[in-house]
Amino acid sequence: MSEPQHVVVVGGGMVAHRFVEALRERDTDGRWRVTVLAEEPRPPYDRVALTTYFTGRDPEDLNLGEAHLWADPLVRLRKGVAATSINKDSKQIRLSTGETLDYDHLVLATGSFAAVPPVRGTDHRGCFVYRTIDDVADLRGYVEQLRADRPDRVVRGLVVGGGLLGLEAAGALQALGAESTVVEFAPRLMPLQVDPAGGEALARLIGRLGVDVRVGAATEAVLAKQGAVSGVRLAGGERIATDVVVFATGVRPRDELAREAGLPVGERGGVVVDGACATDDPAISAIGEVACVEGAVWGLVAPGYAMAEVTVDRLLGGSGTFPGADASTKLKLLGVDVASFGDAFATAPGALEVVWSDSVAGVYKKLVVSDDAQTLLGGILVGDAAAYAALRPRVGRLLPGDPSSYIAPESTGAQVDSADLPDDVGVCSCNNVTAGAVRAAVAEQGCCSLTEVKACTKAGTSCGSCLPLVKKLVETEQRRAGIEVSTALCEHFALSRAELFDAVRVTGLTSFTDIVDRHGVGGNGCDICKPVVASILASLGSGHILAGEQAALQDTNDHLLANLQKDGTYSVVPRVPGGEITPDGLIVIGEVARDFGLYTKITGGQRIDMFGARVDQLPLIWRRLVDAGFESGHAYGKSLRTVKSCVGQTWCRYGVQDSVAMAVLLELRYRGLRSPHKLKLGVSGCARECAEARGKDVGVIATENGWNLYVGGNGGFTPRHADLLAEDLDDETLVRTIDRFFMYYVRTADRLQRTAAWLADLDGGVEQLRRVVLDDALGIAADLDAAMEAHVSTYSDEWRDVLEDPEKLARFSSFVNAQETSDPSLQYVLERGQARPATADERVAAARGEVELVDSERRPVVIAGDRIPVRS
Ligand SMILES: Cc1cc2nc3c(=O)[nH]c(=O)nc-3n(C[C@H](O)[C@H](O)[C@H](O)COP(=O)(O)OP(=O)(O)OC[C@H]3O[C@@H](n4cnc5c(N)ncnc54)[C@H](O)[C@@H]3O)c2cc1C
Ligand code: SF4
Repeated sequence: MSEPQHVVVVGGGMVAHRFVEALRERDTDGRWRVTVLAEEPRPPYDRVALTTYFTGRDPEDLNLGEAHLWADPLVRLRKGVAATSINKDSKQIRLSTGETLDYDHLVLATGSFAAVPPVRGTDHRGCFVYRTIDDVADLRGYVEQLRADRPDRVVRGLVVGGGLLGLEAAGALQALGAESTVVEFAPRLMPLQVDPAGGEALARLIGRLGVDVRVGAATEAVLAKQGAVSGVRLAGGERIATDVVVFATGVRPRDELAREAGLPVGERGGVVVDGACATDDPAISAIGEVACVEGAVWGLVAPGYAMAEVTVDRLLGGSGTFPGADASTKLKLLGVDVASFGDAFATAPGALEVVWSDSVAGVYKKLVVSDDAQTLLGGILVGDAAAYAALRPRVGRLLPGDPSSYIAPESTGAQVDSADLPDDVGVCSCNNVTAGAVRAAVAEQGCCSLTEVKACTKAGTSCGSCLPLVKKLVETEQRRAGIEVSTALCEHFALSRAELFDAVRVTGLTSFTDIVDRHGVGGNGCDICKPVVASILASLGSGHILAGEQAALQDTNDHLLANLQKDGTYSVVPRVPGGEITPDGLIVIGEVARDFGLYTKITGGQRIDMFGARVDQLPLIWRRLVDAGFESGHAYGKSLRTVKSCVGQTWCRYGVQDSVAMAVLLELRYRGLRSPHKLKLGVSGCARECAEARGKDVGVIATENGWNLYVGGNGGFTPRHADLLAEDLDDETLVRTIDRFFMYYVRTADRLQRTAAWLADLDGGVEQLRRVVLDDALGIAADLDAAMEAHVSTYSDEWRDVLEDPEKLARFSSFVNAQETSDPSLQYVLERGQARPATADERVAAARGEVELVDSERRPVVIAGDRIPVRS
């Protein structure tokens, strides 16, 4: 056999890794040996996950490539060695070590460097960029040193650039305990991905997480004292004091080697290549962020992977060409979901927009569809991107249903049947994998789990946002083929949610990092497992949900222990157990609402919801409620909501039991219980069912002899009446049975599965449930009882806990400092004696003087064009 030829890859980044992996996988005859020159002193690593460095993960966790790949005799990785020049004629490159290396083929995969704008003072101590592990390690070291030097004051950080990198950097600063400000030149955050309304929603969400957002602001100079950063000056003269500046203002291709070697580069940089990823020297290719293919340079990893595959194909005699790329993005920035896909800005002629602005969850969702509303063209999701995995693959396709059903509240896109996805639809844009390829991996290549499908197809191995959809496709296909469906939670955990719950319960671990290290199969976690771990930890009562690493796993509402509303304010809904409230209690709630100018509404759960609270007001409101003997309540989170009751025997002529007393008892018992989904209960005092208990997860209906217990009901998209579990129970047995039902559900349900769906999936259905919770068929009843007892005895009011813990309270105090004036973006109209958010039409009408608006302090505001002066 002839000697293998030598391919040299310059650059040891993500795309270089993919190139080597693909080459070694496909070059089964060993026609090529490969040398990778990596200037950084480490193997290729997952740059996309760079920010996880700030959650305490070891940088080595980010390394890419199994040990056997780098130990392959046909692979040589040279860490800390840079290529310094190329001699095309002799097919040689010079190295930083002084050596010269011969090549048969050269692949440039040198990526990009972080661009720093031409403003004065960027060389001061305390200025950073955000590109490599060394960059983030330096940033962390600097901030930690400042904190050690000045323990009495919070470190202030400022990020120049409000794109996805800038927001990641702002999150990193927060994770380091620094205050963060984002300064963006464009009029909105993430201007390349979201439209003005999406940008506004994003700015509000991010702003309310403690990041000071300045849009439409140009940074003019970095200011310093004794050589160290002390502030920045904006165009117009405003100065912002800061100790650290991070530049996240874009990247530039590292095409210097190619330029010097005389290879053509694009107008805005990047080594010009054709569809085969070849430069004008056929012995040299360029892939990844350094390549300028069809006139474009791609700052995303997926196109780079496609180029790596094409180049490998060509080296092995194939004829692959770059298939084009998809700029779809889905990210979780500071705990806020943002996704943008397809024609997000509705540029296609006649394109229509369907917009949903969710007043309860505080989300902005937009779908762009063709002029006949049949074909999905693109979309933007801010605050809730659960539907992304199901929607993105449908871009350019007919939508099977009404567009609005995909973005309606609680739509996860999972309602979209994956079975109807045509085979040629791409589900993983990072790795260009179609639905058909996933199906074939199961049906034809014998893959038996999500992990195997990922290894076989590479679907979901990069950004991971397609994993929920891939998992669904795999399961559907397995069922079709009569194969037992794997219960593995995701690629990071071979355990099912129920098994993971038990594992965490037994080992008592309390951080995501420890749990994935001990019970996982490696990796940094994904959109599937992270929220599951957060929920499990909360169910097990592993400390306050804002304690330590847990805080980073929580969603926006849980971050601030209140319900985000469509105008960016929050609602507070005091717990009113069983809907029973004293006149004094009513007065307190009334006074709080009046004093803070809140809109009040009686909810379906028999509580009084107060809307329109700013974040800085939340601790003040909680203080008033706590002092009056109330606690705030959960109208968010996967937890107990309320126990609704009718007036019962005490007053009602038909009542046969004290439904109110039972409802109060149950609400106080299960408050704070975190579960796979929300929990609602109802108690009716007789069979007339005025509390609509059978529409709840647990319904209790009084009988002459005690209580009938119903389980697994719900309202919502697919209403379901609860099933009768037991009849004529006495109080004690009733409570014990509900304890066991809840704990059994919490331990064994799948992620985001309500009791109705769980019961439908339970082998043996309600009969089996009866055997477990009443007959102790599994011998776990004592364990379930003990678990509920632990929950009840350790329950603590999480809002009062914040008030009593200066560290947690500090999350809110930064808003208090920032909120000296009312927020001009909050505009209301008075209606039926209360203020409610103004609609877009009303804002326009106000500018014409036709409608009167008030601000968040309920003072009149005057609109003049796009400026909003506030009358004092
Ligand atoms: C914080 C962060 C978050 C991101 N998030 C996302 C995301 O969510 N989705 C997404 O698609 N993309 C994301 N990206 C972009 C993504 O990381 C890049 O697109 C991807 O890393 C490009 O891979 P590459 O191999 O072309 O370049 P790089 O990963 O930059 O690798 C190039 C390597 O080559 C080395 N090198 C350069 N010149 C030489 C030389 N002369 N000799 C030897 N070595 C050299 C460099 O030191 C570098 O290590 C993110 C980037 C960052 C920084
Ligand atoms: S359910 Fe029965 S007890 Fe309760 S209010 Fe209605 S009629 Fe009265």
